Amino acid sequence: MEEGLIRISEINDFIFCPISIYFHKLMGNLDTIYYHTEKQIQGSHVHEIIDHNKYSTSKNIITSMDVYSDEYGLVGKIDIYNMETGELIERKKHVNKIYDGYIFQLYAQYFALIEMGYEVKKISIISHDDNKKYNINLPHKNLEYLQKFKDTIFNIKTFKMDLYKQTNVEKCKNCIYECINQISEKDFKVMNKKYILKWENNKKYVQIFSQAINEYNEDIFMFIQKFYRSYVKGKDISQYEKFIF
Ligand code: SF4
Repeated sequence: MEEGLIRISEINDFIFCPISIYFHKLMGNLDTIYYHTEKQIQGSHVHEIIDHNKYSTSKNIITSMDVYSDEYGLVGKIDIYNMETGELIERKKHVNKIYDGYIFQLYAQYFALIEMGYEVKKISIISHDDNKKYNINLPHKNLEYLQKFKDTIFNIKTFKMDLYKQTNVEKCKNCIYECINQISEKDFKVMNKKYILKWENNKKYVQIFSQAINEYNEDIFMFIQKFYRSYVKGKDISQYEKFIF
């Protein structure tokens, strides 16, 4: 994982699959436009309401506030904080299970708020569709989850993508990135002794090569620069820079 702060919104993604964060960044959020399902888009509308401060006009309700934790190196936003009751709320489109990622996201917001001087007495998740509320224990009342949260933050900070392999194929089946297996012979058809990529695999290979270009961008830049200089100086083709890995 790159140096620096961890976005609170990425904690859940990291637990699902660390590589998904990488592709999300790589595609500059275009994946949200191209691949998000209707449900996910509706879910983001729930947050839009909060982001535009339409949730409540009460002076005691803070919505969509930027928060920061120096201790954990976290940055992000809270959804709703009630100053009167000290309750921190995260609203989601539809909740049918409380995933660890949901809890850790709230913990992250909680620690950031505490560091910023707010008093947080309760934390909860609201499922927008069925208007159900799930109360979550504060971190110090659930030491097992507090430790899991700390481990997750540590894992994010020390993550090395080149050493990681997703072993849960089921996750990949439900993932928009489809990056597992990398280059595979069955993705191609053979014509006149040439391997031709099947058109339905285009997206997968755009991702694979985008990843490689991104990893080697400095080498590619240096190669183009040297190649261009050779051309400008009128060198013999045998003296041109070669791109070798
Ligand atoms: S396709 Fe699999 S490995 Fe790739 S980001 Fe999705 S879950 Fe992770």
